Amino acid sequence: MTSSSEGEILQSGQLIRDRWKVNKKVGGGGFGEIFDAFDLQNHNERVAIKVESSKATKQVLKMEVAVLRRLQGKKHACKFYGCGRNDKFNYLVMSLQGKNLADLRRESPRQCFSVSTALRLGVQILLGIKEIHSIGFLHRDIKPSNFAMGRTPTTMRVVYMLDFGLARQYLNAKGEIRSPRSAAGFRGTVRYAAVTAHKNKEMGRQDDLFSLFYMLVEFLQGSLPWRKIKDKDEVGRMKEEADFDVLLEGCPSDLLNIPAHLKSLGYPDDPDYDLLEQTLRNILSRMNVNMDDPYDWELN
Ligand code: ADP
Repeated sequence: MTSSSEGEILQSGQLIRDRWKVNKKVGGGGFGEIFDAFDLQNHNERVAIKVESSKATKQVLKMEVAVLRRLQGKKHACKFYGCGRNDKFNYLVMSLQGKNLADLRRESPRQCFSVSTALRLGVQILLGIKEIHSIGFLHRDIKPSNFAMGRTPTTMRVVYMLDFGLARQYLNAKGEIRSPRSAAGFRGTVRYAAVTAHKNKEMGRQDDLFSLFYMLVEFLQGSLPWRKIKDKDEVGRMKEEADFDVLLEGCPSDLLNIPAHLKSLGYPDDPDYDLLEQTLRNILSRMNVNMDDPYDWELN
């Protein structure tokens, strides 16, 4: 127990819609707060409840619900169980996952993952990004704390994508690419944002993938060169000037294919997801990694 629950939107023991019994806070802080809870109508199955105050100036839970509903049936999406609102808060009930990838990396010996673990996570994150793009949305806040491993025997080796609060539709109802705005406010997280976001330009699919690339560098190296820089513009400049060879020093050189491909794409262009996946898989197979080998945190 770190703090008293006074002032939280939900209290331990609280019942929502006579069905979900709130347990403890498990995360959040950005836009919402996440609690774990028991589903009294389903053998006390553990679920996650994301809540947002009705008073929040930026209401994003509605967008999260819309995206999560459309993602149902996809491998890297949480299950949607319900949503609702009352005079105090809006809530979304979904499957409860395990640890997020930011925590898992920080708990690792040298704050980094082995090539085997990093690149296999990379394949799963890539497929998750491909899924959200396939329903016509960009995620726009791809970062390690927005991915978590499952927590049941059948899901604990699957990566789940979280947090669609900053998602944006890039396709219109006809399935055409929406025209880009000439200026857009910065969205996302400075450390992982693509250069496009730093420049306040409309983000495209390649920008979610650039964030994945920065995640991979951090997984492999243990840090990114701009990790201590607070100034967003300075970080943007560092990213623009960054030499990919230097970022990837000591890493498999085929990884250079990733930024090389992403740099060649403009807002409307279709990323070649297969090329990116093959790049990761080729390195893994050359290293004789099996996709079901243990992940770093499963050893010893
Ligand atoms: P916010 O929008 O407030 O940043 P997120 O949706 O990003 O909230 O969630 C914050 C943290 O809460 C995540 O990093 C993760 O650790 C945890 N979390 C979120 N959703 C779930 C879930 N379905 N199961 C387990 N943990 C979750």
